[in-house]
Amino acid sequence: MTKQLIGAHVSAAGGIENAPQRANEIGCNVVQLFSGSPRVWRKKELNTHNFQDFLAKRKQFGIEKVFTHALYLTNLASDKTDLVQKSYLSIKYELEFDARVEGAGVVLHVGSHQGRGWLAAHDEVLKQIIALMQSTPDKSTLLLENAASHNGKVGGDLVELQWLLDGAEQAGKFVSQGRLGWCLDTCHAWAAGYWLGESEPTQVGEDGRESHQAELFTTDHQENKSPGKTVGLATSRSVSKSATSQSVTLPAAANTATAQKFSARSKNEDRPSLQALVTAIDHLELWSSLQCVHVNDSKDPFASGRDRHQNLGDGLIPAADLEYFLNLPKIIDLPMVLEVPGIKNEGPDAENVKRLKKLVVGNQQ
Ligand SMILES: [Zn+2]
Repeated sequence: MTKQLIGAHVSAAGGIENAPQRANEIGCNVVQLFSGSPRVWRKKELNTHNFQDFLAKRKQFGIEKVFTHALYLTNLASDKTDLVQKSYLSIKYELEFDARVEGAGVVLHVGSHQGRGWLAAHDEVLKQIIALMQSTPDKSTLLLENAASHNGKVGGDLVELQWLLDGAEQAGKFVSQGRLGWCLDTCHAWAAGYWLGESEPTQVGEDGRESHQAELFTTDHQENKSPGKTVGLATSRSVSKSATSQSVTLPAAANTATAQKFSARSKNEDRPSLQALVTAIDHLELWSSLQCVHVNDSKDPFASGRDRHQNLGDGLIPAADLEYFLNLPKIIDLPMVLEVPGIKNEGPDAENVKRLKKLVVGNQQ
């Protein structure tokens, strides 16, 4: 049996070299961190991170895998050229950071088309992803995270992630090389209308997908007072052309082969999917590109579209369903990372790690 990979998002306050010990102290052998504040664009010079110390501490504290979470500000699906350009540069930095920490990937919220619709945004998103893959170290990995689906977030419907992965694969075999994949967040999947168990949940979510800011898991106590701002609303339907992507040519099939799949849902972009998660991943053949699982419970009902994480067992995802899903043979060996608020609202803690281990490790003994 392979070693269970259990992780948590921890603070890198005081320097990234502090993160391995924080993860170890709550019982983890996987760590996820930010390379800087997730709510400001400004980054410190890459070389000023203490990578040497980080790698030494990583070894000392038995950290098997390291994930970096991209900024909350990034939006590759915006029609604002400057925002896409800033996002591109920020993600490029994270990918270089990922290579330097010998990481397992940068987890990215792709962004929001903000009402323009997925079809208006997807070509540009794909171009940016391909350009990022072409301009970053071979040892870096980009993982697209599924979204909770509200506010035009790309990746609420897993078909969208599949389309992006397929397009990038055709352009440069990035998926089969392992450089591009996706990260599944259980809270987001639940919110987007994918149930985690075998049968449909009896609890039906209220249809209240009003504008709602995601409640962020705590990473830095000082910064946690103001939630991240959503980026400005798009006013134009035109697809932006970023300077960073002009050299990228989209594979023809990416534009045509799967486009028909979207016509049926173009009228209501936020419509939840309402199917079993395992079935959706099967149908879309998304198992091999799945590289990480964010294990979070949800404060909101099924298919709510809302992204508010809850401590394991304290939320609305049926515990038996979460247990069923995490113990699937194709899931159990993947790195699992907690992004829960924590019992004291100070981020993932030993108690949540204990609950996660009980769900997965406990079942194997
Ligand atoms: Zn997540």
